[in-house]
Amino acid sequence: MSGCLFCGIIGGEIPSTVVYEDDRVYAFRDINPQAKVHVLVVPREHHEDVEALSANPTLLAAVITAGVEVAKREGIHDSGYRFVFNTGDDACRTVFHAHLHVLGAQQLSTFGH
Ligand code: 5GP
Ligand code: ZN
Repeated sequence: MSGCLFCGIIGGEIPSTVVYEDDRVYAFRDINPQAKVHVLVVPREHHEDVEALSANPTLLAAVITAGVEVAKREGIHDSGYRFVFNTGDDACRTVFHAHLHVLGAQQLSTFGH
């Protein structure tokens, strides 16, 4: 979608460090990591948020499966990792293209604050 930051990253107009990709999904390092590993997994197709993405369960499952693959490739599959979807203002969501945060490689704090 024109003007969408993550569509620009997927399209290669904005540089990113790719971790995993396939025909439906693109995964890249977060520019402002909140943990030693912080990767964003996005569907190539533009959906505003995870609620919109859930209308396409196959694509939503592809994002989750890619997140597990990212955890394996980053060496955090066995030590543990966190999946996060931020939705709406109270969750501090800033980018309006659905994305899964994959966080790990250290002891993560409790969340909800
Ligand atoms: P949100 O707060 O919407 O759940 O997460 C958006 C994420 O996108 C943030 O963690 C932020 O650091 C990341 N981000 C914002 N702009 C860029 C960018 O240009 N490149 C990359 N790799 N990540 C970005
Ligand atoms: Zn987009």
